[in-house]
Amino acid sequence: MIDLTPYTMILVSLSGGKDSLCIALETVKAAREQGVFHRLMAVHCDTDAEWFETPSVVRNHCRLLDIPLQIVHPHRGIPDYIEQRGMFPSMSCRFCTSLKTSAIEKFVRSLYPAKKECKILSVTGERREESPHRAKLCEFEIHHTLTAGKRQVFHYRPILDWDVVKVWDTINKSGIPPHPAYTGFGNERLSCALCMFACEKDLRNGARNRPDLAQRYLEVERRTGFTFRYKQSLKDILSGETQ
Ligand code: SF4
Repeated sequence: MIDLTPYTMILVSLSGGKDSLCIALETVKAAREQGVFHRLMAVHCDTDAEWFETPSVVRNHCRLLDIPLQIVHPHRGIPDYIEQRGMFPSMSCRFCTSLKTSAIEKFVRSLYPAKKECKILSVTGERREESPHRAKLCEFEIHHTLTAGKRQVFHYRPILDWDVVKVWDTINKSGIPPHPAYTGFGNERLSCALCMFACEKDLRNGARNRPDLAQRYLEVERRTGFTFRYKQSLKDILSGETQ
């Protein structure tokens, strides 16, 4: 963990998943050791596409770790946005991720306008082994979107080089219960209940957890002819058929 003492606020982004629980555990531990625990805050973006249990899981993690939590919402939820556009996010057009990050950035701007002198650390849980894109990320860098005027903001990714074994070891040692998507449903990863980048098993689990969301996406496919993934419909994935 880096030196946390220069920061006015240390903002930990929580999704409810295993990686975000690890960054919360690591940041809480380091902040206590460095005497800046009172500067910690967690933020969770509820996109309307979350697992049913996610908001309560995030609240429980923050309660057990004794850190304040702010839940933010994008100006329009992901399912609403998909219905309005009549298409799903893709690798080249990840408007869903932008909705999440914009909501968190808006929250930071509201707390710390650019005229207010401050130094903010944004802690997130990306890991290199998750994707080629994440493999190229830096552990620490300036947050170009949020840094303005007297407000300085930095990205910090403390578990970028961790593997999944270390992630689960850390959680198991902490005694904090992980999201039931892993323990109850056997998910590999946790994201939105229905994420275009999830494996088929996780998608079928997500549809069982959020049948309302699955119905909305199936209706978009039916109405527009666009498929949930490139050349692969959610309808086929959920019925167990692949191309
Ligand atoms: S989890 Fe998937 S669907 Fe949800 S915001 Fe991230 S990329 Fe988009």
